Amino acid sequence: MSKQSVTRADFDKVMVPNYNPQQMVPVRGRGSRIWDQEDNEYIDFAGGIAVTSLGHSHPALVNTLKEQADKLWHLSNIFTNEPALRLATKLCEATFADKVFFCNSGTEANEAAFKLARKYSYDNVGPQKHEIISFEQSFHGRSLFTVSVGGQKKYREGFEPVPAGITHLPYNDIEALKNAISARTCAVVLELIQGEGGVINADPAFVKAARALCDEHNALLIFDEVQTGAGRTGTFFAYEQYGVIPDILTSAKSLGGGFPIGAMLTTDKCAVSLNFGTHGSTYGGNPLACAVAEVVVDEINKPEVLCAISAKNQLFVEGLAAINAKYNIFQDTRGLGLLIGVELVEQWQGKAALFMAAAREQGLMILIAGPKVLRFAPSLIIEDEDIKQGLAKLDAAIAQVLAEKS
Ligand SMILES: *Cc1c(COP(=O)(O)O)cnc(C)c1O
Repeated sequence: MSKQSVTRADFDKVMVPNYNPQQMVPVRGRGSRIWDQEDNEYIDFAGGIAVTSLGHSHPALVNTLKEQADKLWHLSNIFTNEPALRLATKLCEATFADKVFFCNSGTEANEAAFKLARKYSYDNVGPQKHEIISFEQSFHGRSLFTVSVGGQKKYREGFEPVPAGITHLPYNDIEALKNAISARTCAVVLELIQGEGGVINADPAFVKAARALCDEHNALLIFDEVQTGAGRTGTFFAYEQYGVIPDILTSAKSLGGGFPIGAMLTTDKCAVSLNFGTHGSTYGGNPLACAVAEVVVDEINKPEVLCAISAKNQLFVEGLAAINAKYNIFQDTRGLGLLIGVELVEQWQGKAALFMAAAREQGLMILIAGPKVLRFAPSLIIEDEDIKQGLAKLDAAIAQVLAEKS
């Protein structure tokens, strides 16, 4: 039986309209290159939204997935498995953590983190200590709890009533946090770089103050490193660069290199509150996912690879500055490592999607982070030559938009 032929037009026929994908269908990828149904080639600066950390079809990942596929796919949590035990050991060795909970996405990792924070305070103090403090523009996922903790109202609208006991404060505002935190606070959660919110770096002083205030009020500090983790910022986790240790950290995206996995990392002290039967996931710790993520960790968590990420950041920053010298279109460049954002000048704010579409026409995949920021989150081992060629395509895309719309 032959496969039915499908095109982008079928999306609008058979898919729920919560997405509006670009007008082509990618069919294969290799490294930082992708090809569509018409065999057009693209350079990938999007990385599947900061996910394909070793590029497409990395031989070590492909081989591992095939080998594991021949051995064992799934068991459920009635049994443990070797890849999960090895991956958890490596994550604990590489971080502050003593214990790991596996799941299938960033949302699920955060759901587990928020539930653990509530349960920990419930166990140690009482049910009144349940308030979660988070920050405006933050993004923590799309389940009802994570969308409620997230600081973007548009993702909650129409889905109310949402879980209670959540406060949103201005990001990087130490005074606001000082005023809001109390004996009722069970956790403060933040992204070290707000990814979806516009690639906004946390101030080191703010992160340090958050740690001190959490200690003072007996609240847990949660870092959502779903986007910044697993090498993305040039250290294995971004918290290493801030010199601040959380109580709970969440990881997903780059951790699986494209295979769905999420992880919540925590200390022995907190972990006891997720005691037997309190939380779970049918697929969490799946052998296929853990086998792949183990290779991602092995490949990324080495000094030469992490150092090269900072050098690649430099190539991007210099190339973007050269583009800006020509067109005067960016007013700010932010991020760390290979999570980079440029904010458009006032005249083009609200039109970031135009640049994403023009880039695609020029053979380049990029991301946006809200309506005024272009975002780049490529493979962590993207070739320097691909960065240069991609930036040339970005230059052409910007020229195209300016010519058509000015
Ligand atoms: C993407 C993202 C999430 C959600 O991850 P999913 O895998 O889409 O559920 C949560 N937090 C941050 C910071 C993210 O960037």
